[in-house]
Amino acid sequence: MANQIQKILAQLPSVDLLLKQIPTEELTHSKVKEKLQKILAEIRQAVLAGDMTEAPSEQEIIALTLDELDKHQYSFKRVINATGTILHTNLGRSNLSERVRQQLNEVSFNYSNLEFDLSNGQRGSRYSHLVSVIQKLTGAEDVIVVNNNAAAVLLALNTLADQKEVLVSRGELVEIGGAFRIPEVVTAAGGEIVEVGTTNRTHIKDFREGVNENTGALLKVHTSNYRIIGFTAKADLAELAELAKEHGLPLIDDLGSGLLIDMRQFGLPYEPSIREVLKLGADIVTFSGDKLLGGPQAGIIVGKKKYIEQMKKNQLLRAIRIDKMTLAALEATLSLYLDEKEAIREIPTLRMIAQKPEEIAEKAQTLKERLDDISDQLQVEVLPDDSKIGGGSYPEHLLPTFAVTLKSQTDTADELQTKLREQKVPIISRVKNERNYLDLRTIEVADFDVIAAEIAKMFA
Ligand SMILES: *Cc1c(COP(=O)(O)O)cnc(C)c1O
Repeated sequence: MANQIQKILAQLPSVDLLLKQIPTEELTHSKVKEKLQKILAEIRQAVLAGDMTEAPSEQEIIALTLDELDKHQYSFKRVINATGTILHTNLGRSNLSERVRQQLNEVSFNYSNLEFDLSNGQRGSRYSHLVSVIQKLTGAEDVIVVNNNAAAVLLALNTLADQKEVLVSRGELVEIGGAFRIPEVVTAAGGEIVEVGTTNRTHIKDFREGVNENTGALLKVHTSNYRIIGFTAKADLAELAELAKEHGLPLIDDLGSGLLIDMRQFGLPYEPSIREVLKLGADIVTFSGDKLLGGPQAGIIVGKKKYIEQMKKNQLLRAIRIDKMTLAALEATLSLYLDEKEAIREIPTLRMIAQKPEEIAEKAQTLKERLDDISDQLQVEVLPDDSKIGGGSYPEHLLPTFAVTLKSQTDTADELQTKLREQKVPIISRVKNERNYLDLRTIEVADFDVIAAEIAKMFA
């Protein structure tokens, strides 16, 4: 018996021998080796316990190892966004800055003063950490942050207009991708929507006529993802603010993206900043953390302290509050804006918008050279194209860009697109004119190694 066991153990292949038969990259080599050692140890134990009376073949051990490795591949993983759409909602909108990485490391892997006031040792508020930076950047009296901007609008309306009427222009009854509809959010918040004006024209007198003793708030919504053009009119913010003040009503402005800097410097059309909107008289402004701001997913509510105090007491807040990682990422992102040049350099969303076509062309040329010699089957060419900002921001505005385009002798453009998407690090491309476009606006130089390796594997 003991002899039999010794014989089986002696038949087991060595780790090194097996390792040679599993294709690995440098990065995963030690992981594969570790897994092989673990599986061999388990097999030895089973043999010693008499549970295994025959040595498994090399192929069986390798299959077991690959199965094990597969189990620890995450479903949620990084991809290369080669679409050129910067705020691609399906691909995670804004990439976070390196500064955020450091701050996350510091506060989410350690205990923190999340809700602890270090000045007196008493319980504190998680929102207090953002007050000073938000005041500096927007002039707002106070701030509160929730899960996303949809939740921000919900909290603001539920706090200020539950069981009351909410006046909105018919031209601003927007639907944002992923089923956020203003009329439904107002209803979900317990309010009753009162539409004023018409689709193309709404005047201040329409709002004035709509106000009565049941009115809870005036709501203005940024028509992020569409434009009404032609014969149009809007009640302007200053007039709305005056009307709201006359009646002691809060004026809520859902800005959607929310800007802290002037985007005209990148050739984009004028949009008022959060500071300007507050100055014109909005009492409450809501915006997203992960659209043009370039931070984590969050809904930021800024404005009058008396209204924000009421929101802090709303039970709903507990259900939609942010966690410590979001708070850390948001404070780090906002603090970059204290120096605008630094913000543009460090925040990926702004950096991608700010890139000049000639810089992108240069990046495209470098990537093309990396891909040129991969295969005779692959034709690589740099072509001009247009990028989009995405996330419902500047819907009609395209940014001139350059793409590395791929054409395969053996696959159709759609087949090649699928293959690119099925790699370990998926590459999400755009198909146009029978070619796969890899837009260099949303690809960082640091991604080139991965892209070249994945495409080389496809043609190996
Ligand atoms: C994007 C957007 C929202 C929803 O924001 P999320 O952060 O995605 O929840 C709400 N209102 C407007 C005007 C928007 O543009």
